[in-house]
Amino acid sequence: MKRVSAQVRVGDLLLGGGAPVSIQTMSTLSPAKTDLCVEQIRRIEAAGCRLIRFSVPDAQAAVGFEALRQQTNALLVADVHFDYRLAVSAAEHGAHKIRINPGNIGSREGVKAVADVCRKRGIPIRIGINGGSLEKSMLAKYGGPTAEALAESALQNAAMLEAFDFSDIVLSVKSSSVSKTIEAYRLLAQRCSYPLHLGVTEAGGAEMGMIKSAIGIGSLLHDGIGDTLRVSLTEDPVREVEVGLEILSALGIRRDHPDIISCPTCGRCRCDVISLAAQARQRFGKLDRGITIAVMGCEVNGPGEAREADLGVACGTGEGLLFRKGKPLRKVPFERILDEMALELEKDE
Ligand code: SF4
Repeated sequence: MKRVSAQVRVGDLLLGGGAPVSIQTMSTLSPAKTDLCVEQIRRIEAAGCRLIRFSVPDAQAAVGFEALRQQTNALLVADVHFDYRLAVSAAEHGAHKIRINPGNIGSREGVKAVADVCRKRGIPIRIGINGGSLEKSMLAKYGGPTAEALAESALQNAAMLEAFDFSDIVLSVKSSSVSKTIEAYRLLAQRCSYPLHLGVTEAGGAEMGMIKSAIGIGSLLHDGIGDTLRVSLTEDPVREVEVGLEILSALGIRRDHPDIISCPTCGRCRCDVISLAAQARQRFGKLDRGITIAVMGCEVNGPGEAREADLGVACGTGEGLLFRKGKPLRKVPFERILDEMALELEKDE
């Protein structure tokens, strides 16, 4: 069952409280580089993500949010470490949300200054606890960045914000260990009602990053935990968004595009299903419909294996049997399969 958290507002987007799970990513650029950022934001938005985080390493970066607010509709998150004044400046220059790691942001007075400006401007704060930058006191208490230590740090820092009369809080507890990440979020889900931002940090390059994120984020979402997510990959942010959407789609949580399922093929298969499935993904994968399309390797098990598919094909020798919801439609020549499937999809428009 979905954990229903408190709700916060980021611009016109709701996080938590039963709102749909949203996807976010992180820009590879400083917000000071307006033109490059605008170009990247457009690509990220086209991929299906409006919530974009930017590192704020210096004063120019903090000021940069102003131009990005004027030139885009993206929801901009300022990610600040070490210097609370940069978080204050980013909020004053139009950031829709601030992420701080109180473990390295400095004094309580600094955190209070961030809370004050965010309260005044109606901006939520994410407390982003990271296994690699946990407070020394937590490391000493738990002997390392354990799941308990991550969760306790997040809750302690949330309590500090609450003491400053600030409660528009989102929490994250990321570790590069998938198991620790899952455990830490489960602890948080039990112990508080703040919305949770999911992610596995430093997940890595393409394949390993995707696997770690799919297991970590996917397990939590399957348990009903999580209100927004970022897949962290050493890749273009657009790829992070695509993988995030694929995780949501695989769990049936959000389906913007077709789920194209295909069989693994086996000795019964007498045609090139691997390339047919790849072509089907290319041709139908971006359609704005949350349907299931099945590409199966044989007539023996194809329709049965894909009974739930809205549209499918079971291939034979030189031909394919089209079917809908597991029921046969007609046989078509192998080279016509995708065109015939396209015709069937047009009928639904
Ligand atoms: S659908 Fe047919 S070809 Fe594909 S894995 Fe199943 S039995 Fe093998």
